[in-house]
Amino acid sequence: MKRFLLLPAASFGLIHLALSSSARADDLEIARDGASRYEIVVAANASQAAREGAAELRRLMRVVAGVELSVAADATEGRRQIVVGAHPRAAAAGVSAAGLKADGFRMRTVEGNVYLLGEDRDLGHFFWINNNESSHGGSYFAVIEFAERFLGARWYLPGPLGEEAPPRARIAVPSNLDVTQEPRFAHRYLDVVTSKTHESLKKLQTQGVVDGDYFDAASAAEATRWGRRLRLGNNSNLNVQHSWYWWVPAEKPNSWTPRAYGKEHPEYFALRNGQRAARYRGAGGAHGGQLCVSNPDVARTYAENVIAYAKRTKTRSFSLSANDGGEHCECAHCRAWDLEKDGNGEPILTDRLMRFANAVAERVTVEVPDATFGVYAYHETRAPPRTVRLHPAITVSDVYNYLPSLFLHPASRALMEADLRGWRTQSEKVVLTSYYLGEGFWSLPWSTLEIQGWLMNLLREYPSSLGVRMNYAGPGDLPPMGMLGADPWVLSRLLWNPNQSVEALAREYYLGAFGPAAGPLLQEYFATSGRALAREAAKRPLEGRHAGSSVFGAPMIEAAYSSVREPCASLIRRATAAVSEREERYRWRVDRVARGWRFVELTLDAIEAARTAGKTTGSGRKGAWEKAIRLGQERRALAASPESRFALAPYSMDLMDKAVPLGLVTEMPIGGELLLRAPRMDAAPVVDGRLDEPAWNRAAESSSFRENARGGAAAVKTQVKIFACAEGLAVAFECEEPRMHALKAAKDAATLWSGDVVELFLVTGGGMDSFSQFAVNPNGLARAVAHRGDRGADLDWKPAWKYAARKSTDGWCAEILIAWKSLGCDGPPPGETVWPADFFRERSTDAQELSGWSPTGGPFALPLRFGRLQFSP
Ligand SMILES: [Zn+2]
Repeated sequence: MKRFLLLPAASFGLIHLALSSSARADDLEIARDGASRYEIVVAANASQAAREGAAELRRLMRVVAGVELSVAADATEGRRQIVVGAHPRAAAAGVSAAGLKADGFRMRTVEGNVYLLGEDRDLGHFFWINNNESSHGGSYFAVIEFAERFLGARWYLPGPLGEEAPPRARIAVPSNLDVTQEPRFAHRYLDVVTSKTHESLKKLQTQGVVDGDYFDAASAAEATRWGRRLRLGNNSNLNVQHSWYWWVPAEKPNSWTPRAYGKEHPEYFALRNGQRAARYRGAGGAHGGQLCVSNPDVARTYAENVIAYAKRTKTRSFSLSANDGGEHCECAHCRAWDLEKDGNGEPILTDRLMRFANAVAERVTVEVPDATFGVYAYHETRAPPRTVRLHPAITVSDVYNYLPSLFLHPASRALMEADLRGWRTQSEKVVLTSYYLGEGFWSLPWSTLEIQGWLMNLLREYPSSLGVRMNYAGPGDLPPMGMLGADPWVLSRLLWNPNQSVEALAREYYLGAFGPAAGPLLQEYFATSGRALAREAAKRPLEGRHAGSSVFGAPMIEAAYSSVREPCASLIRRATAAVSEREERYRWRVDRVARGWRFVELTLDAIEAARTAGKTTGSGRKGAWEKAIRLGQERRALAASPESRFALAPYSMDLMDKAVPLGLVTEMPIGGELLLRAPRMDAAPVVDGRLDEPAWNRAAESSSFRENARGGAAAVKTQVKIFACAEGLAVAFECEEPRMHALKAAKDAATLWSGDVVELFLVTGGGMDSFSQFAVNPNGLARAVAHRGDRGADLDWKPAWKYAARKSTDGWCAEILIAWKSLGCDGPPPGETVWPADFFRERSTDAQELSGWSPTGGPFALPLRFGRLQFSP
């Protein structure tokens, strides 16, 4: 109670209370020594929030006070009542939800009875909350507040052992209790709850996005219940997604719009490199197929399709956000709507895209007046508009992914803050969205309480701030408390009332969750690792508005956690010892955090072992690989173990391992033992795409290409040839292609990877994280990339090399000659030199296939999984 009385409540209208805070003679005694005069009353037609609240209250009264309250639809003669939710008895006592904001609630005592009710709105499943709009839950939140204040309950972690509800002999409430609370923010979306189903997550596994099937229905239910106890939810209907392809599809009709426009109206789509790009990149349609928004027919068509959909369904919330991945229209009319360029010289497209959003919203609301809209402020639209004020039916979702890394760089923090403030002063409704730690930062611990505090302080200043949609971990991960510590618990409380002290909330969490002995140790553990990560992240380059996942690479992880390995290990040991004699719930909670640290240690050791294995040759090689594999497997097994539920985030680990490889290994590389011996020739080839020099007949060759993801047989044959000569390294790819008519090949080197391409990777230096990449396509266009470890990739590398390609009726051929100086040597390397190397083919006819000489099972750039190129003396 003290916590609430300290607040400057009046300024935000959150909390009005007239409450005597000490026990007094006229307190109402709800239960004493296992007996009670009370019953719970909940209307027969009560909202789901009220019914769930009544059940929660009944259970807690049993656990805390040892009394079994009966539940009735109306008052029983001779009993006193705790009325949950709207009820004629509450109305008669003058207690109602009238005038409350969404999710707000009241707790009142009137003539010996207790009334707990709030603004409820049933929109389907009460525990389904990370969606466009969740059921409102005021009456349930009234019960939660009642339980926290008068029963001493807390929910520090999900699951039965995360609940704190110690027995009490006496339960009493003030006879003049009169409390009203409303959440400051309508959108309280934290992904510590999951709306994912087993089916949707299974799909990620089938698509190879993640390796494991980690779903557990019971744990998922515990997580969403925990989210409701933290009073999370979304209370203004916000539909925001990459969605232009829903409403003006280029290629394929869909369930929103039953016709596609690409063929008939190519002029509706973005002009790119002189052509109308009425097609998608990648699967699904969320990439590419952008619209030519200055064409008035496009806004009209978009609006007509939304209106038609609104008329045949009950949907009233629509997204106006562009497809993902940029590549917006370059036509003169669209460009004329742009105002300024960002730090990288790219135009900022906010005014252009928001003008379009307004045009659609204006048209739709004429016919569907209650329609609302969501639009992302993201990437090219992250800066606020200069000349456009958004239509009042539009909610802006401004996106700041990797928020901690943006925060830790002074220049990007200043930009982020300017953007945040700009949107909030120029729009009426703004919701912040963030993949806060990327897609989960590998499940490694990173608590950032002070950054959350900074963010809440800033958001609360603006009435237009509607809240947050915050993703901490990978899709489907259960709350990973070994990674997040107090963060979600503290943030959930700030979302109701941002005028609280983050320090005080954090202290309350650590003491309450882990007890007085272990709590301060674990608070220090999270603070120590958090400071180390902040130090390292601030050292990594970060450009302008774009925070790249490259910040979160293996070098940062190694540097940060290694620097605090001793103190962190010691804090975890001491915390574990401190609870060894205490109750099971303390031991279980400390174990969640200790697993997080065990995962750090395994990750550090596995990275080191993999690096050693990659460099070891000769007799020690097998043993080095076996050690790296054992550690890699142990790391994965720890994250995936059912015992690690609510401790670690296995989906996040999988996603990050695939997207930003740490270089870990979990099995012998498929092609790690492959060896190609490049012979020495006298004459260099003429690089013209014809392999007609005699040298090519004596080159080393291999056609053992396999499908890259799983190592199965490749559908079409690719043969690679290689030899060394005085001028450089000569390489050729001969690609059989039975579907030459369907061959897709970029006509511009800038978009080389959008079509067919062959690639060579070479590790020519000492470290496995620095390597060269050479790519050539059937049109004879090429790109070279220098990967320089910690310093990132140089996409504009200009090595000394020649290349040519040549198409025939049944295939195509690429011929390459790379000067030795561009490979870091003066001439052909001495005999027996071994370079990790790999060859890949990306086939993107109507039949798509990635194949490799030494398949990596993931991205191509995984040097630990390359084969070996050796030079003959
Ligand atoms: Zn245009």
